[in-house]
Amino acid sequence: MDHFALTNGVLHAENVPLPAIAEAVGTPVYVYSRATLERHAQVFSQAVAGLGKDGTPLIAFAVKSNPNLAVLKVLQRQGFGADVVSGGELRRALAAGMAPGKIVFSGVGKTRAELELGLSEGIGQFNIESLEEGRELAEVAHSLGITAQAALRINPDVDAGTHDKISTGKADNKFGVPLVRAGEAFAELAGLPGLNLRGVALHIGSQLLDLTPLETAFAKIGALVGELRAAGHVITHVDLGGGLGVPYQPHEEPPSPADYGAMVARVTEGWDVHLTFEPGRVIAGNAGVLLTRVVRVKRGVRDPFVIVDAAMNDLARPALYGAYHGFAAVEPTGADMTANVVGPICETGDTFAMGRECDALSAGDLAVFRTAGAYGATMASSYNSRGFVAEVLVDDEKFAVVADRIDAGAIMDAERVPEWLA
Ligand SMILES: *Cc1c(COP(=O)(O)O)cnc(C)c1O
Repeated sequence: MDHFALTNGVLHAENVPLPAIAEAVGTPVYVYSRATLERHAQVFSQAVAGLGKDGTPLIAFAVKSNPNLAVLKVLQRQGFGADVVSGGELRRALAAGMAPGKIVFSGVGKTRAELELGLSEGIGQFNIESLEEGRELAEVAHSLGITAQAALRINPDVDAGTHDKISTGKADNKFGVPLVRAGEAFAELAGLPGLNLRGVALHIGSQLLDLTPLETAFAKIGALVGELRAAGHVITHVDLGGGLGVPYQPHEEPPSPADYGAMVARVTEGWDVHLTFEPGRVIAGNAGVLLTRVVRVKRGVRDPFVIVDAAMNDLARPALYGAYHGFAAVEPTGADMTANVVGPICETGDTFAMGRECDALSAGDLAVFRTAGAYGATMASSYNSRGFVAEVLVDDEKFAVVADRIDAGAIMDAERVPEWLA
């Protein structure tokens, strides 16, 4: 459920008509709804409440899905921590007021400087993704005279049944340590000074529309916890990752957080560990739209091209993954059309939809791409020297710009022609 709906024929974000935002901030612009973010946070929190050892699992929002500071602040106020994958994301989580103890650091390529940053900030847990990283983390922590809290990320070799580029738990994906080598890795790492290897972590992929692969992977992790304990290791923490999908298309029915929570309760029964969850998309996806204006409508061979002022540099998912985003007029007339929806970028990949049945639109009209709150603005680039889109957060009847538009000129200002070329 989200808070983007028609009121008197005009699409609103909560109680703000979208034309008012387009007027004030220009287009394209990402618009997020605070009420939607909070609702999703609460639904997820309720779904996992009571699970794990002390019944207070850590919910670490996957910052990469939407790193905007204001969005992080909304979630921090809901008690969320953060799952970060870079020093930059770690700084954002801290800047949003997230407690260091509620920050989990994931990623296969954490640099030494990033390990040091996490250690000096006292983050809650490093999810280490290799034996090599574990050794380095132990060494760095030991040299700083501290002990790093860590979990070993396991690659359970389960096909998440999602798009190849967002599958992360198959044997040939770069993430984690193969299940069969987990024992070895624990045997070496658990004895190192500077490291408290206290658990395991996994994350098998994103936009999962079925709980079965998650359940299969979790069951493997449960068995592993038993084996590790039998080998004498103390396992107190398991991080179950993220991955729950959202409905991008009307026919998609992803499992609800409640169904997910019930499955987790069933599979983790008796594990006797503290649980961490890392939801991203399911929290932020439907909490945002990309508001755009039609530049012109061009006649096509079959269907017309609706050329909008947003492009693949602003919303990369269709170009990257062939992803579907709902597309709708802000002031629908009731008429519809079949259109190819494209951006202005000089790439055929800059296509949001081909042959899409949608509201009738003409030049100057406003429209939205729905479900753009996750993996939207965060994946933007300045390709074609288009600059970075602004972001707005709505709260009931008010709204604020929470990220300025960075125009092409500002980006050019960071460039130099060397003296010897001038
Ligand atoms: C991307 C990612 C997530 C979040 O995935 P969603 O599908 O957005 O829930 C969680 N954990 C890790 C380690 C990730 O890389």
